[in-house]
Amino acid sequence: MVFILHKTATKMEIESFVRSFNSKNISPFVKKGTEHTAVCLIGNTKDINIDSIVENTPIVSYGKRITEPYKMVNKSIRSEGLVIELPNCKVGPNHFTVIAGPCAIESEKQINTIADAMKNSGVQVLRGGAFKPRSSPHAFQGHGEEGIQMLLQAKKEFGLPIISEIMNQTQIPLFDDVDIIQIGARNMQNFDLLKEVGSLKKPILLKRGLSSTIEELLLSAEYILAAGNDQVILCERGIRTFETATRNTLDLSAVVALKQKTYLPIFVDPSHAAGKRSFVAPLTKAAIAAGADGVMIEVHNNPQEALCDGAQSMDLTGFAALMKEIKLRVPMENKQL
Ligand code: PEP
Ligand code: MN
Repeated sequence: MVFILHKTATKMEIESFVRSFNSKNISPFVKKGTEHTAVCLIGNTKDINIDSIVENTPIVSYGKRITEPYKMVNKSIRSEGLVIELPNCKVGPNHFTVIAGPCAIESEKQINTIADAMKNSGVQVLRGGAFKPRSSPHAFQGHGEEGIQMLLQAKKEFGLPIISEIMNQTQIPLFDDVDIIQIGARNMQNFDLLKEVGSLKKPILLKRGLSSTIEELLLSAEYILAAGNDQVILCERGIRTFETATRNTLDLSAVVALKQKTYLPIFVDPSHAAGKRSFVAPLTKAAIAAGADGVMIEVHNNPQEALCDGAQSMDLTGFAALMKEIKLRVPMENKQL
């Protein structure tokens, strides 16, 4: 259940309203948005009479029952959307964010060459995997802690915020200076990990599981918010289907569906969705048109020699050309880069 308050409600009035629900079966929480404040009640709310509360509480504008199982990420709490502030840009409504970089950090030279090119082409966030979830135990697993150090060095040198994937909670201290923590598709339902990153005060990019429904993705995000961290970005990265022409099937409807169901920013990863470089530019343009708030793209200075995901990685020239197209298309959706 959610109550949307009038803008004029004072702090004391809000506190007193929240206190009125203090009972064993209900936990209220307050969400302050840019447009209004919402008071949400989670628990057994069936005996609460919404009409009577709206009528008798002058600070309440309206109330609504949330029937979906995801409550804290529900669109009805914050219809205007969530803006996440990064050092150099904003993520969320009216903005478009490009995250790009190699699948895996391979060497200082590799990450620095790519970071330099990303910076020059206007990318806002540099990606680089240090802990790689690979299907085969014999495949390159990433440089781990050393990889994170190389990424941090590139952050310092090129002044770009960075994102990297975490695989388990013991790695959290290594991510202190990483700006966004990525939870990969395979860990989308690692509930212990979700709870742990929920206690952090930094943005989390949560990727959709290989065969997860949109509702399951939202419930995983709900875990992070329930643990106290409301800076979550969702990422559609393709799902398993019967189709074999691409590595996965990019579910662009998920962008539209998620936009209707949640206020969290929605990103698209066309690289893992397609598994093929030639698909990345058209799918990026489609993601912009579908209303995505950003994309995450794999780029490599020498894709043929990449230790991970070379076939889907764009080269520096191809990516620079795509960036130009992104810059042309984003304003058409009333967003800015
Ligand atoms: C990645 O971004 O490098 C990655 C492993 O993605 P996903 O979790 O979507 O497979
Ligand atoms: Mn990859």
